[in-house]
Amino acid sequence: MKKYNFNAGPSILPQYTLDKTCKAVKELDNIGLSVLEISHRSKEFQKIVDDAVALVKEILKVPENYNVLFLGGGASLQFSMVPYNLLGDNQTASYLETGAWAQKAIKEAKLFGNVNVVASSSDKNFTYIPKNFKVPEDSAYFHVTTNNTIFGSELLEDLDSKVPLIADMSSDIFSRPVDVSKYALIYAGAQKNLGPAGVTLVILNPDILGKIERKIPSMLDYKIHIKNNSLYNTPPVFAIYASFMTLQWLKEQGGLEEMEKKNIAKAKLLYDEIERNSMFCGTVEKDSRSRMNVCFLPTKPELEQEFIKFATEKGMVGIKGHRSVGGFRASIYNAMDIEGVQALVDCMKEFEKQHA
Ligand SMILES: *Cc1c(COP(=O)(O)O)cnc(C)c1O
Repeated sequence: MKKYNFNAGPSILPQYTLDKTCKAVKELDNIGLSVLEISHRSKEFQKIVDDAVALVKEILKVPENYNVLFLGGGASLQFSMVPYNLLGDNQTASYLETGAWAQKAIKEAKLFGNVNVVASSSDKNFTYIPKNFKVPEDSAYFHVTTNNTIFGSELLEDLDSKVPLIADMSSDIFSRPVDVSKYALIYAGAQKNLGPAGVTLVILNPDILGKIERKIPSMLDYKIHIKNNSLYNTPPVFAIYASFMTLQWLKEQGGLEEMEKKNIAKAKLLYDEIERNSMFCGTVEKDSRSRMNVCFLPTKPELEQEFIKFATEKGMVGIKGHRSVGGFRASIYNAMDIEGVQALVDCMKEFEKQHA
């Protein structure tokens, strides 16, 4: 039976990425060795990193002076690397509190300086993105989480900010065109929309570095990683290679304008069905709904397990909601095509026929 992968992360990858990566695990073109056994100092791997960086810059239209890094430690390490490098002991950083990942970022920043939460949607279990907040102009930076993977809300606008804008884009990077020049630093764990677990993409304007007086361990110092072109230590070679394949696929698909069109159509198909179907209701306010993670609840709570069972039997994988929201969550990242979303919608319609 065909499986439809709605997992939140690690999550679905393009067939192109899986095929090419499989092949490279056996033998990389022209080398006669597996990608798992080449030296990270070899000219072949150097080229893989250089080409992957070039593709990130091309696809996202990254400004010329920015740096692109592939680092270890997950997006979670960026929660502390950002303040370690950018927040002085006596300074204040501003954060937008839109979900569990934002809260974790805030917790880490408090280890290094003061944190000002400019707005929070915790009053309604993070079912909306706050608006009309004010960021103090003396903030060291302003941190946002563009897509709230757990709660299914998304900030679809590149905000104007007078202070350096920092974004955790782990679960919506490459899902739409972004004005990178508005951000001082963007980071994203690969395992949602780019590649396998193990690598984190960081895009930054180097002008923001070197402004605070703190000794920084080498592995946590952006400057060291920039200087060494992501090869200060052994980087996650395999995860970088697989991510590189997804970047090639993105380009082949027509880039981010095309991706955004597809993602809008997929999200509309599913949200329309949630609104129409008497068995389900959405959790997030309409203007804050995520195109990547669609959260919804059963209108009859006693049928929650029943639907999971029903959908699982039809090949749907990973639609159980996160425990802090309950119900269901369908993650429909770039690699999920509209046929997959249609299969879920068909499944919801059939369930309604049986139970309404
Ligand atoms: C998954 C996720 C993280 C955590 O990523 P790790 O790579 O596991 O550290 C952080 N932020 C967001 C928005 C996420 O979706």
